[in-house]
Amino acid sequence: METNTCKKLNIGVFRNTKSIMKAAVLYKAHDLRLEEIDIPEITKEQVLVRVHSVGICGSDIHYYEKGRIGSFVVKEPLILGHESAGEISKVGDDVKNLKIGDRVAIEPGFACGKCLYCRKGMYNLCDNMKFYATPPVNGAFCEYVAANTGFVYKIPDAMTFEEGSLIEPLSVGIHAARLGKVSIGKTVAILGAGPVGLCVLQAVIVGGASQVIVTDIKDHLLKCAKQLGATEVINAGSYDPVKKILELTDGRGVDIAIEAVGSRVTFRQMFDVVGKGGTVVLIGAPAEDECSIKVLDILSKELTIKGLFRYVDTYPTAIKLVSSGRINLKPLISHIFNLEEIHNGFKVASEKSDNAIKVVIRI
Ligand SMILES: [Zn+2]
Ligand SMILES: [Zn+2]
Repeated sequence: METNTCKKLNIGVFRNTKSIMKAAVLYKAHDLRLEEIDIPEITKEQVLVRVHSVGICGSDIHYYEKGRIGSFVVKEPLILGHESAGEISKVGDDVKNLKIGDRVAIEPGFACGKCLYCRKGMYNLCDNMKFYATPPVNGAFCEYVAANTGFVYKIPDAMTFEEGSLIEPLSVGIHAARLGKVSIGKTVAILGAGPVGLCVLQAVIVGGASQVIVTDIKDHLLKCAKQLGATEVINAGSYDPVKKILELTDGRGVDIAIEAVGSRVTFRQMFDVVGKGGTVVLIGAPAEDECSIKVLDILSKELTIKGLFRYVDTYPTAIKLVSSGRINLKPLISHIFNLEEIHNGFKVASEKSDNAIKVVIRI
């Protein structure tokens, strides 16, 4: 009896004083180590979140494989992961709207709220942005993260933490639909049916698109797109997607073409599948810094070109759309691995093997 009490007490004391956590730390390309590091300190305006689920994103894979994305280079050890959800374990003194135990999704970019772009409502372009898993800011493949209160959103009990982590790619989808000005009756082509493409698909359907054509080269992704409401899907490996899309739109092309791959090929296709007066939205970043485009198409079709960088004020909308059942993130979650199996997770996610769509790490 006495021993039991003692044990309980010890565990309690251990938990209260715990200051070390597990984290997956990237040292350089392909050098990802599981380590024990200090739990981050929080400021008065921050909360500490016990992380439950983190999605592996294309950008994480990029850092893992190349150690860099453009000018962002991993010089110091870095924790990857920016698609996260968890439970609040500590709140700063000035935090009023959140409490310990709240289940939350974390918007991973902390804008300053003061610079010109923040004041203009374009906080995704903030001059002082601190974004998880972008050097030198650590991400969420670890047990605890500090987060700024304005960027932490409660999720309903019925929403799983895995779904909560996917509010991040869904945010990209919602932002793309907004940039493309999707409305009732618009026709849309989405080039690429990875997790982001599938989120774009669901966002444009909610936005009122009457026809949504999705292309990819993987049949399992196209099957998922069809299940989630694409009117037509095209395997671009077997058919000419440009010819097919023109056929499906009476030779006119679509109102809005959205690129969600980041390849030179799909980049060119966008300008062929979009119709007169149409809009193209670029999400994917091609490996090459420069790609040629058909200038005459832009002029003669009076095209609008929109680049997308992350998102602005999408989390509340995304959470409502998922919790009301109007958007379904569950079919996107193809694999769940524990933190200890993160190497496997990265392998499956980068090779897109085993019919992978979205790989989520459970911490
Ligand atoms: Zn992401
Ligand atoms: Zn700012």
